[in-house]
Amino acid sequence: MIPYQLIAKKRDGGELTPAEIEQLITAYLRGEFTEEQMAAFLMAVYLRGMSTTETAALTRAMTMSGDIWNLSPIPEPKIDKHSTGGVGDKVSLVLAPWVAACGVVVPMMSGRGLGHTGGTLDKLAAIPGFRTSLTKRRVISQLKKIGVTMLAATENIAPADRRMYALRDATGTVESIPLITASILSKKLAAGANGFVFDVKYGSGAFMPEIKRAKLLAESLVKSARKSGKKAVAVLTAMDQPTGCAAGNACEIHEAIECLRSRKPDDLYRITRALAVEMIVLSGLVRSRQVAARQLERVIDNGAALEKLCRMIDAQGGDSRVVDDPRRLPQAKFNRFVLAPRTGYIQRIDTRRVGWALVELGVGRKKPDDDIDLTAGLLLSKKIGDRVKKGEPVGKIMGRRRRTFAVVAGEVTASLTIGAQKIKLLKLIHSRFDGRKWVPQTIS
Ligand code: URA
Repeated sequence: MIPYQLIAKKRDGGELTPAEIEQLITAYLRGEFTEEQMAAFLMAVYLRGMSTTETAALTRAMTMSGDIWNLSPIPEPKIDKHSTGGVGDKVSLVLAPWVAACGVVVPMMSGRGLGHTGGTLDKLAAIPGFRTSLTKRRVISQLKKIGVTMLAATENIAPADRRMYALRDATGTVESIPLITASILSKKLAAGANGFVFDVKYGSGAFMPEIKRAKLLAESLVKSARKSGKKAVAVLTAMDQPTGCAAGNACEIHEAIECLRSRKPDDLYRITRALAVEMIVLSGLVRSRQVAARQLERVIDNGAALEKLCRMIDAQGGDSRVVDDPRRLPQAKFNRFVLAPRTGYIQRIDTRRVGWALVELGVGRKKPDDDIDLTAGLLLSKKIGDRVKKGEPVGKIMGRRRRTFAVVAGEVTASLTIGAQKIKLLKLIHSRFDGRKWVPQTIS
């Protein structure tokens, strides 16, 4: 294999064979394909794209670069969910115990915050004592006993992605559909689930705000997962404003627990339910979405979903008393209201801008080794479609870094478009891609 030739073939718009892609990744791991060459290759892929076959081959090669978890000692179907991320996206925290309470095994692999988006691992860190790293033996035993784990990918899961992601971050090649697909899927495939539900976000806070690009990403994820022998569907959901009212770490844990108790806030509940239905149907436990939806209602009503959450927290070393007593979560020292700059209807929220403001507040990181503030966050009291009066609170920011409050409050205010007319919201659950076609989502 001559690195120059493979880079030039992609640069000139050619299609690499699966064998060439495998050689390239193997050589990269051995240091025979240098970082500079990989950076050039990534830019060539960014500009030229990849076919489904190439994307699947890249995914496979990246998956094989590290440990592959064998979850076959657990006979039941194991289904995971992946979200392309956003602001206030606490869906995983509600979804994993809820679906597990319906009998589906959920080995959920989560990530830290990325760019302006929050990460489930950061939110879980707000539960005192909760560990997101367990030995393989503990994972299998917990999945057999409780049916759910929420973990971080270990250093040895898809190490090629770790290096390539850092290079992409530094070379302006993050927003490439085949590269995102291979990055997400390689980690998921290595973690041993049999099927995946992809929650692909669209709207101002999504990585792919335009519906057309979001759909392409969804299709790429589903088709590549299927080419790797896994079951997969994607659901397109709205991220034109933060999901729920809370965006932060401890405050999102609190809101997720509330949702499992009271089905509120409504948008969080509906998105989670739509994804949960897909996971249950994909597992093969039931055939119809209606039956899955009824089962989900039952386990909220009888408390089984909340109990599953408590058992998972206990099993992973956390303090499950937070479920009944949220004051045990880290508490913010300071807070400040964010006031409406004028009277009218909230027409739009620049959710990406809100996400970056939250990074400033300490919810996320500017550099990979930055400390985060688990108590930091935003509690929105008004959302798109609500009428506000000038000077009325639209939300509250909180945390320990009071010196950032003025800037953050200014950014949140500036992210709001307020006008005289009420405008239509984006469709919360837009549609579902089953591998062949897009169908309008019916359970919502
Ligand atoms: N999440 C990932 O893991 N990889 C990407 O490339 C984008 C989002």
